[in-house]
Amino acid sequence: MKINIIGAGISGLTAGCYLQMNGFETEIFEKHSIPGGLCTSWKKGDYTFDGCVHWILGSDKGSSFYKMWTEILDMKKLSFHNHDIRLQIDLKNNVNRYGQKTFYLYTNIDQLQKYLVDLSPEDKKPIDKIIKSMRIMQKFDLPPVMDDLPPLQSMLRGIKMLRYLEFLYWFLRLKNETNFTFAKKLKNPFLRESFEMLYDGNEVSMFVLTMPLSVFDRKSAGYPIGGSFSFAKKIEESYLKLGGKIHYNTPVKKINTENGAAKSLLVRNNKVHEADVILSATDWHFTAFDALEGKYIDDKMQKLKDLKNLEVFYSVIQFSFGIAADLKDIAHFSRFPLEQPLVSPDGTSYERMEVHVYNYDPTFAPEGKTSVVVSYYTKNADYWIELRKNDRTSYREKKKEFSDKVIDLLDKRLGGIKDKLEVADMATPATFHRYTNNWKGSTQGWLPSANMLAPSPVKYTFPGLKNFYFSSHWNQPGGGLPIAIKTGRDVAKIICKENKVPFRTFRQKD
Ligand SMILES: Cc1cc2nc3c(=O)[nH]c(=O)nc-3n(C[C@H](O)[C@H](O)[C@H](O)COP(=O)(O)OP(=O)(O)OC[C@H]3O[C@@H](n4cnc5c(N)ncnc54)[C@H](O)[C@@H]3O)c2cc1C
Repeated sequence: MKINIIGAGISGLTAGCYLQMNGFETEIFEKHSIPGGLCTSWKKGDYTFDGCVHWILGSDKGSSFYKMWTEILDMKKLSFHNHDIRLQIDLKNNVNRYGQKTFYLYTNIDQLQKYLVDLSPEDKKPIDKIIKSMRIMQKFDLPPVMDDLPPLQSMLRGIKMLRYLEFLYWFLRLKNETNFTFAKKLKNPFLRESFEMLYDGNEVSMFVLTMPLSVFDRKSAGYPIGGSFSFAKKIEESYLKLGGKIHYNTPVKKINTENGAAKSLLVRNNKVHEADVILSATDWHFTAFDALEGKYIDDKMQKLKDLKNLEVFYSVIQFSFGIAADLKDIAHFSRFPLEQPLVSPDGTSYERMEVHVYNYDPTFAPEGKTSVVVSYYTKNADYWIELRKNDRTSYREKKKEFSDKVIDLLDKRLGGIKDKLEVADMATPATFHRYTNNWKGSTQGWLPSANMLAPSPVKYTFPGLKNFYFSSHWNQPGGGLPIAIKTGRDVAKIICKENKVPFRTFRQKD
């Protein structure tokens, strides 16, 4: 059976690997000249800049995600860096009892607990409770890989799943807790402000903090040395080794259908590629409303298009700098308040700056030099996308104007880097949209709603269309690489099941 896949992002490559493993003949059609989609890095002069991965869930043995990664790449070929401090925040209004204004989010849970209680013994009770929730989470493998198992093994798994009741209990206890509601419970003003500022002043479910910390502590959410592109490239290598074929520089224009079934792909030069099954592993909006011309949607998908159900995840304005200085002593990831709000040309006003210093990845710059990234998240991606489309000169001017302001602020923060600045690069939501087609330049699909685990109305199949599947980070709010790989794996399993092929997997190694 022949399957044509649109998109060589992580979801498309993953689905391709599993389908090849199970005897299907697949070909991927990718608009860009390289694999990875949003999971990318790029080189300018001496420097590599990363546009994606800060950490990968399941980077070490013992989690379901590790098992999944080993099925699509040889994990032994990768080395991971685990940070001792996840984030460092300079506060605006408070200092701690030692007169310091910096809050450290340690990745070792014991150290974090000790640090928090030392700063505020009077808050021991709520601190201990949140630390306990991290410890409980560590006992569970989330989300478990649910393979189809023979009956006896299924029963055993069922019994093991009863253990998840404890997790459920804690989940329900914390369900409505956010960093803001937690901060309100704290007596200490320094800690209160620290928790409020954890997500740059946004209110976020405490799950978003406790789940990753429970994994960081285990050193199973590391950063892959070499960055996002080399990570994606390794999955591409596995796919090619499994016999897959990729057509780069081949944007798909339309998915041709006949009598309610997907038939073929129309690509550039009006070439048509027929297949028994079409799998789109790209943007949901492009797939539903451009490639399929809005013919295979339901009310829920229409509501999504009208932005009535879920919110699109933030897009990003990424400033990347190559600095001829050794910045080894600077925090790798920090946020600090600005004296004056910084107003983006798209109208978003920022009160802080987030700086990512890649001083822990030796492949990113030669000895004595450092790649530095400043990121500003925006919900007004359309401003940049429309401006670039309609007025390229103004687009360039606005970029320069904003970039100059950011360089001034960074120069102040890092103690004079202007004369050492060798490369300055700026990617806007229009850049992310142009290269990957993600709707509104979204970096991770949908923002999770108040109900963290609510699924996306974008399903693996579209209403009324046969021989067609869809997988990408748009399938599950929150997105990210683990979701991209899980959706790619899940959709391959569904295709196997529908074709009565027992789903089998094996580890990738040399
Ligand atoms: C700045 C940033 C930071 C991030 N940080 C993290 C992180 O730390 N951890 C984490 O887990 N995730 C992170 N993510 C999110 C993660 O990168 C994405 O969720 C994930 O890569 C999405 O994969 P995907 O395959 O679903 O989609 P995509 O990456 O969008 O892949 C879709 C592919 O389809 C191709 N395509 C689109 N249209 C067409 C067409 N018409 N014809 C042919 N091909 C087409 C695109 O070029 C692309 O290659 C980050 C993302 C960004 C941008």
